[in-house]
Amino acid sequence: MIPFLDLKNINAQYRAELIEACTRVIDSGWYIGGNELEKFEQNFAEYCGVKFAIGVANGLDALILTLRAWKELGKLKDGDEVIVPSNTYIASILAITANDLVPILVEPDINTYNIDPNNIEAAITTKTKVILPVHLYGQLADMPTIMQIANKYNLLVLEDSAQSHGATINGRKAGNWGDASGFSFYPGKNLGALGDAGAVTTNDQELAQMLRALRNYGSHEKYKNLVPGVNSRLDEIQAAMLDVKLKFLDIETQHRRKIANLYLTEIKNPLIKLPLENINAEEYQQHVWHLFVIRIEYRKTLQQYLAENGVQTLIHYPIPPHKQQAYKEWNDLNYPISETIHAEIMSLPIGPTLSLNEAHTIVKLCNSFKG
Ligand SMILES: *Cc1c(COP(=O)(O)O)cnc(C)c1O
Repeated sequence: MIPFLDLKNINAQYRAELIEACTRVIDSGWYIGGNELEKFEQNFAEYCGVKFAIGVANGLDALILTLRAWKELGKLKDGDEVIVPSNTYIASILAITANDLVPILVEPDINTYNIDPNNIEAAITTKTKVILPVHLYGQLADMPTIMQIANKYNLLVLEDSAQSHGATINGRKAGNWGDASGFSFYPGKNLGALGDAGAVTTNDQELAQMLRALRNYGSHEKYKNLVPGVNSRLDEIQAAMLDVKLKFLDIETQHRRKIANLYLTEIKNPLIKLPLENINAEEYQQHVWHLFVIRIEYRKTLQQYLAENGVQTLIHYPIPPHKQQAYKEWNDLNYPISETIHAEIMSLPIGPTLSLNEAHTIVKLCNSFKG
């Protein structure tokens, strides 16, 4: 049996170090807002090449609180529009509606699955204030072009980097392009905690200060509350776990790239569309392969065929946000590229502990599938 992602094995690689870090926190008697958080925030900011990282409770909060902070700082108000890809995990959109802002859904590029910059400019109105690109599956959105558009129209940019820790374009990492970026450290992400965790990265000191207050009841200073905040803190144990795993992130990414490369070069079945078909090799090197997503018209039969042969696959995601019941008001809208993607995609196993042998088995099964 080849599981989709073997979290137990992934964390077992670092068992001794994780236990040591855990013991250190237990013995310190200090569990919230201490040295472990500060150390991880510094190391993660340095990893992304930015001045500040602000730990929060999860990736959704990282996005929600950044938009919230911009409202508190007078940069956004109720009803302002935020441009966001129509094919994303629903969290990107929930962060917008949770702040009484208006999501403007924009179709992706069918080759990259990321927001198509050509569609962004047409969606801009006098109410547009933010572009929220999502770096889906481990690949940066076209940030050079998106930043040009943002500069031209004076828009804020909030990256959703939840799936792209360490991905780059021209050597610049996810989290280092926009005015701010939200990261998730959900256990299955490329950098995963052993529970929930998230962070915002930014070079903006004023924003960093506001976020530090918002995550802690709106308090910059103990028992003084300047803004109505929430409780969204990254605790010491999770910060310590993340600091251990951050050291190994690039090594894990190298392994993901090896697996992806094998799939890209060895899967030769005309029924299966591989990712990056029309993308240049240089860009591909910068992909961190959070997911290896193929497209196939006969998705259900391929999933069944792989399952019968012991290979677990998943779909990221089966229903686009505008077809969700949570957003009933959009159910009649048409986003044909997003709908095609959601109908045809499936994710093959990929991860830091998937062996090349297992990957070869998956390649053989994909190649022997007849439809
Ligand atoms: C996982 C994810 C999130 C949310 O992160 P959580 O830590 O689960 O709250 C947001 N956006 C995208 C694209 C994600 O994949």
